[in-house]
Amino acid sequence: MNEIKTRFAPSPTGFLHVGGLRTALYNFLFAQKNKGEFLLRIEDTDQTRLVPGSDQQIIDLLDKFKLKRDNNKIIYQSQRLDIYKQYAEQLVDSGNAYYCFCQESSLNKIREQQKKDKQPPGYWGPYRQCHKLSIEEVKKRIANNESYVIRFKMLPNNNELKQKDAPSQWTDKIHGNIAVSMEHQDDFVMIKSDSYPTYNFANVIDDYKMGITHVIRGEEFLSSTIKHIKLYKALDWQLPTFAHLPLLLNPDKSKLSKRQNDVAVEEYLKQGYLPATLINFIALLGWNPGSGSTEEFFNLPELINDDFNFSQGQIKNLINEFSLDKINKSGAVFDLEKLDWLNGWYIRNLKFNKLVDLCKPYLSQIKNRGLLEKIIHIERERIKKISDISQNIDFFYKEKIDYKPELLIWKKSNKKETLENLVRLEDFLITLKNQDFDKIENLETKITDWIKKNNYGVGDILWPMRVALSGQQNSPNPFEIAWVFGKKKTIQRLNKAQNKLK
Ligand code: GLU
Repeated sequence: MNEIKTRFAPSPTGFLHVGGLRTALYNFLFAQKNKGEFLLRIEDTDQTRLVPGSDQQIIDLLDKFKLKRDNNKIIYQSQRLDIYKQYAEQLVDSGNAYYCFCQESSLNKIREQQKKDKQPPGYWGPYRQCHKLSIEEVKKRIANNESYVIRFKMLPNNNELKQKDAPSQWTDKIHGNIAVSMEHQDDFVMIKSDSYPTYNFANVIDDYKMGITHVIRGEEFLSSTIKHIKLYKALDWQLPTFAHLPLLLNPDKSKLSKRQNDVAVEEYLKQGYLPATLINFIALLGWNPGSGSTEEFFNLPELINDDFNFSQGQIKNLINEFSLDKINKSGAVFDLEKLDWLNGWYIRNLKFNKLVDLCKPYLSQIKNRGLLEKIIHIERERIKKISDISQNIDFFYKEKIDYKPELLIWKKSNKKETLENLVRLEDFLITLKNQDFDKIENLETKITDWIKKNNYGVGDILWPMRVALSGQQNSPNPFEIAWVFGKKKTIQRLNKAQNKLK
């Protein structure tokens, strides 16, 4: 058997979509698993939609996610116009394609007529005008500088009537047998009037020329595949295996939003989702290992090597586990809650120094390294993404914190009792040593023992303590904050709270 070859073929028309990353990942995994090759092709033939720099952005992202290409040479379609032209001419010569001189105005007329006739739009059947032009006519019009496109003939002339209603069959690796009615198939454009090829044409030529054995891509291309198959047949080329990945859905089962912030991979990285999390999450969008478990951890060895504290076997190697047979055809739900949960899990497993490096850009206001590390230490249990680290932490480093005195009062308690409790607590903390503040657990034991011994209400003491230290309704627990502050600053804050209540 031939060596397996896959490719990722993005159009550089903007940001990389999470669906695009999934396509790249699955192509990479399938090639790696089968010791084949994974190639990159930039489909930059739609000159009107090009976004300068987006090709490089895609390349950088693939590097970031360690989706290594097996050949450094990246194919750019815009540099291969001669090749497409040559094959287009060959198809014209063999009667499978033709020059079409219909301009926008006549195409509009055709559309209007089709509307009237209640027929689907497209350049097909009786609505076509140029498919029977003689060679002389074509030559004359080209010599006259008339603008033209080259169209593919979906039904070759002589078969036209016989095949009219016949469906064409093909088999998709994921969706199974697909039957397509040939009745209204558009004689699609292969070469545009700007002499660039269309996606449908260049895509097939390149997949063949590059020796691609498996075309793995999103379901949105499923309906175009019949065009590709007809092209392969007209050129007498062997078909690759096609595998169309299931759609990505919102939790309400609608098609995943196209808004940039919701789907741009770059945006997720900016918010502090780890590359390792995204790969694990995206791997499971449509594929599952079939073990029945939904909470399994899979990754690329290269992505989790040094940065995490994982034990041997805690994370399965995606490359070994992956197979095309385990891809579902039903849509895959993009569940942000699950992504958050998974990211929290990966963050908690990061090596501490690595976590500090990642958090630093979000905490540039904190200059003191000791304080920075302590904050990260206690916040790491709570954060879902790295950018969360900067939320609600001002009280750690601001000299003055602002809050209403009433916030200090626990449930049914009152001002007077709260003040008494804060004074008692302060008196007790004064008796502790500085070192008693060096370990959270130690401090916690000391304070809770004291509460028990004196039969105080836990909330009556700990609630005002927490608010006095943080000024917030929600914050880390009071032992953690007191540990960050140390004895002196803790007592200062308790003092200030007392003043507020007086
Ligand atoms: N250029 C197409 C895209 O943007 C590639 C589709 C395919 O893989 O055939 O997704």
